[in-house]
Amino acid sequence: MPIIKLENIQKKFGQNTVLDGIDLVFGEGEFTVLVGPSGCGKTTLLRLIAGLEQVSGGKILIGDRDVTKLEPRERDIAMVFQNYALYPHMSVYENMGFGLKARGVDTGEIKRRVMQVAEMLGIEVLLNRKPKELSGGQQQRVAIGRAVVRDPSLFLFDEPLSNLDAKLRTEMRTELLKLHRELHATTVYVTHDQEEAMGMGDCIVVLNDGVIQQRGTPREIYFHPINLLVAGFIGSPSMNMVHGQISAGTFTSLDGVIVLETKGQPDGDVILGVRPEDIHRPINLADRQHGCALSCRADVIELLGARAIITLAMSGTELKAVFEERYLKDIVEGSPLTVVLDLDRLHFFDAATGQRLNETAQGGELDGGRGANG
Ligand code: ATP
Repeated sequence: MPIIKLENIQKKFGQNTVLDGIDLVFGEGEFTVLVGPSGCGKTTLLRLIAGLEQVSGGKILIGDRDVTKLEPRERDIAMVFQNYALYPHMSVYENMGFGLKARGVDTGEIKRRVMQVAEMLGIEVLLNRKPKELSGGQQQRVAIGRAVVRDPSLFLFDEPLSNLDAKLRTEMRTELLKLHRELHATTVYVTHDQEEAMGMGDCIVVLNDGVIQQRGTPREIYFHPINLLVAGFIGSPSMNMVHGQISAGTFTSLDGVIVLETKGQPDGDVILGVRPEDIHRPINLADRQHGCALSCRADVIELLGARAIITLAMSGTELKAVFEERYLKDIVEGSPLTVVLDLDRLHFFDAATGQRLNETAQGGELDGGRGANG
């Protein structure tokens, strides 16, 4: 499959600039996930690549072929939509074979390819049904099958699982990944769902206001977010952000509650970022010595099953932590407790620019976590 390149893509709707200077390369067989807040331009970017919208500037290249001005059907790209977009009057078989028929592929070859893909997706028994006779999950499988049958240069997925219930979503996610491993098809996938982004992507692109904030592996994006926006957007619950100052290598939060050594960060106003999963209950002295110990109160406990989100209150500061349920047994709402912040996993951002300041935990090897939240 050829490499797909976007060069300085601009898109305006009237005076409104929706995408501004997008440069991206989708490597052969790579699975790229596009994420970003609602309205940041994700769907517009997919529609531009598919040819459903025209760019206001820039180029789209598939291999050496400049497809910027080509019609959608000339681009060899298949798009799977959130709402499935199946033809209601056609059977599943006809829906899946439609693209091939439109290209003049002969009936025998259409049958061979539709049957092969139907088997791959476990939908052979549905081939004679109309879309209205299918569940949401089955319709989505057919929509995916219709794209796969065409064997395109590039697959575009626009939130394909968001209409499905949570259980089916998880199942379909695994199936899509298996399919990707089988086909090695270059894929661009838009989602709102962080788990989908982290779990599916070889590469994640975070967009905001039509501008790429960061492109990286899931590890890079999670462990080394380049700015406050990426840091706050990826991870659930979101990273805790604490305003403070660094002076002579020591960070002090504005309310004076959190004081910790910073390993040589320059002086200035900063925001300390701490992921909820990097706050632990210390189980031994080494944990206390390694981390920054804080006395606080468990204000709210939200049990999610095996894990719980705890809102920790200190004088002027509130932090969210994620603990395994087994470390909660002695705590009720209102209990005092001591927690430690893992000093190896802190993030510092410039308070004025929002840009990352420190180089720790940059997606490299980590020690598997300390203390008692697993
Ligand atoms: P969501 O996550 O909510 O689906 P998104 O990141 O996919 O959002 P887009 O649908 O690409 O965002 O929209 C980006 C911006 O472009 C929005 O401000 C939207 O209102 C605007 N926009 C999209 N399509 C058009 C259009 N056809 N005409 C005018 N403005 C549009």
